[in-house]
Amino acid sequence: MATTLERRSTNRLRGLRCRACHVLQPADERYVCGECYGPIEPEYDLAAFDTESLRAEIERGPLSLWRYAPLLPVAAPRGHFAVGWTPLVEAPRLGAAIGVARLFLKDDSRNPSLSFKDRPVVVALARALELGLDTIASASTGNLAGAVAAAAARNGLRAFVFVPAATDESKIAGAAAYGASVVRVNGTYDQVNRLCARLADEERWGFVNFTLRPYYAEGSKTLLFETAEQLGWCLPDHVVVPVGSGALLTRTATAAAQLRGTGLAEGALRIHAAQPSGCAPVSDAVLEGYRAVRPVRDPVTVARSLAIGAPADGDGSVEIIRASGGSAGSVSDDEVLEGCALLASTEGVLAEPAGGVVVATARALAARGAFADDESVVLSQPAATRRSTSMSLIFRSSRARSRIDIPSSRRGSCGTARSGAS
Ligand SMILES: [Zn+2]
Repeated sequence: MATTLERRSTNRLRGLRCRACHVLQPADERYVCGECYGPIEPEYDLAAFDTESLRAEIERGPLSLWRYAPLLPVAAPRGHFAVGWTPLVEAPRLGAAIGVARLFLKDDSRNPSLSFKDRPVVVALARALELGLDTIASASTGNLAGAVAAAAARNGLRAFVFVPAATDESKIAGAAAYGASVVRVNGTYDQVNRLCARLADEERWGFVNFTLRPYYAEGSKTLLFETAEQLGWCLPDHVVVPVGSGALLTRTATAAAQLRGTGLAEGALRIHAAQPSGCAPVSDAVLEGYRAVRPVRDPVTVARSLAIGAPADGDGSVEIIRASGGSAGSVSDDEVLEGCALLASTEGVLAEPAGGVVVATARALAARGAFADDESVVLSQPAATRRSTSMSLIFRSSRARSRIDIPSSRRGSCGTARSGAS
């Protein structure tokens, strides 16, 4: 094992603790437990923080996720784009449409590469730079490819991204435009993932979701940190989280624990999972009595960014949802696209299908009476849609597609048109 790197004194990192055997180990180059190969994650000395000075330090910090540096395992990389500190907006018209009285949107499509994935990537990038790596890489369902490619371009690193061949063309084009080598693999995300696990052992690349995973996953915490701060240092009553690997959901719980542990915010937060019915291993497990997760072999869904059949943090997600008193939604593709169209037409936010999964899940939870009228409900809006395939599907689901036929007598000089604009 490599030696421990020198760290900034601003954070209270104690080391990396194994979630399986619970041994605390140094924050060196290891990315799995040195004892049992289990998953490891940073642990902080929360009791050592003085609440008021921590809050003041955060509020003085940059308008990016690095304002939470005391609760992150690495310092901000120099010269990178501002990532995070995305708007939390009230969504009264969408709320009225889906039956939620106090609805908020956390709009992560405002990040530099248009998705939530910029958060974990920038923390992994900071670690890669700290380790002196010249290449970053990832397995991706689409959005992560763009985030890795953009981060590499901005910092003069090489990028390799591996995606299932069925990934949206626009997302592949986006990553390629940033200069990344994009490798399409004939297979599902889980097969791509296994290929990358082998490569990660062979190449000295920073695989953000393997060899940098303990750092990568920490970036996801900042979404709830920001939400709480934007609500006046208050945890929302409910949050609806899109679930792919489950990393965002499990780190939402970690963030809540750290906010409570440092005294920054309090409150019972119920965490709900949002998945499309064509790939809902976590939601199905929750809805069928919080049982163990059963992998989905061939995910089929319009929400391709959530098409992870064997989620790494699947069982962990189910446990957290149960412990928080949360539930889940498993929604059809029609409901997903309708959710996107509704979000766009009521609030002016154009989401990719994963955002529609969250809206449709919130609607289903509201119909089941999950939210009281005085409770705040935050929907995590993970990514913007590229003007592409998914866009035209959403268009077909919206109400704005009526055509007007112009009577033949009124056709103008260019009268070849048989009907109005499509
Ligand atoms: Zn272990």
